Amino acid sequence: MKADKNFLDLIEKIQSGYQITQQECAFLLQFPETSLESAITRGVADVMSREKFDNTGLVFGQIGFEVSPCPGKCKFCSISEEHTQFEKASMSDENILASADNFTASGDLFALALMAMHNYDFERVLHVVAMVRSKIPAQTQIVINIGDFDLTQAKELKAAGANGAYHLTRLREGIDTTLDPEIRKQTMGHIKQARLDLYYCCEPIGPEHTPEEMAEQIFRGIDYGCFQHGAMRRVLIPTSPLAKYGQISELRLAQVTAVVTLSALSCTELKSIGVHEPNLLGITAGANAIYAETGINPRDTEKETSGHRGLDISDCKQMLTEAGFSKLFHI
Ligand code: SF4
Repeated sequence: MKADKNFLDLIEKIQSGYQITQQECAFLLQFPETSLESAITRGVADVMSREKFDNTGLVFGQIGFEVSPCPGKCKFCSISEEHTQFEKASMSDENILASADNFTASGDLFALALMAMHNYDFERVLHVVAMVRSKIPAQTQIVINIGDFDLTQAKELKAAGANGAYHLTRLREGIDTTLDPEIRKQTMGHIKQARLDLYYCCEPIGPEHTPEEMAEQIFRGIDYGCFQHGAMRRVLIPTSPLAKYGQISELRLAQVTAVVTLSALSCTELKSIGVHEPNLLGITAGANAIYAETGINPRDTEKETSGHRGLDISDCKQMLTEAGFSKLFHI
């Protein structure tokens, strides 16, 4: 069994520090996930990532504290107003603080993500950020995951205690969503201008996405200087319009994670690679960051994702240990 010669030449160059192009990224993505080329890609990404991040695994926590049928109408999301079964609900301050304490008490959490909807009450988000900031360890990062915002709001979020924001243009943004990709890009610019860390991801990957589409989206995160890159597959929500396409395997997700890793490792701002949802194949293919989740989760149809799709902190630590990470972040 022999691997493709052009592929092997490229992998050798990457191991010598070569920064691949968007076209070469698409080339790596076009091999089947069960191929020898895919296995080599995952292995090389794993070794290079462990070298860059000193074989350190990071655990993140996410609290989805607001939910309402969302006008973003993303055709893959369990919260789209077109097909959701969720009703408007909001976690109380007490419950948010209890969840934040639960996530951070052990000192094992690198960052806490606070998630609301595309349409959100900015004053409430500011309040939640400031409230959580005042209660959790100063070293624990706060990452907000909300809809679009302007530069003034980005600065206010930072002043309230946020360290970063998760934001991206999704695959087929504006086609499989009603959102404007240009406005999403503007918000990414506001995050960078306010000196918040940009958490980015290639998502939500489905079987229908081409290597070229994924490569374009992967490189956008690199071009913006993301603090975290990663890959997330679309989880099949049976009531959603994209359910007809099915979902990719964890093995394909691991392959994409590996290609993200090989594409992004030389990005100077990059501090970690995530894979969503957490799985062993992904964290042995370049990813070193996984998320525990509680509250609302757009990939889940349960109102409380912990105990359902969402893992807890000790599950995440166990998974990282099983994957051979010799160090886990600890305050
Ligand atoms: S992915 Fe986000 S913006 Fe899209 S429908 Fe779901 S909650 Fe709304």
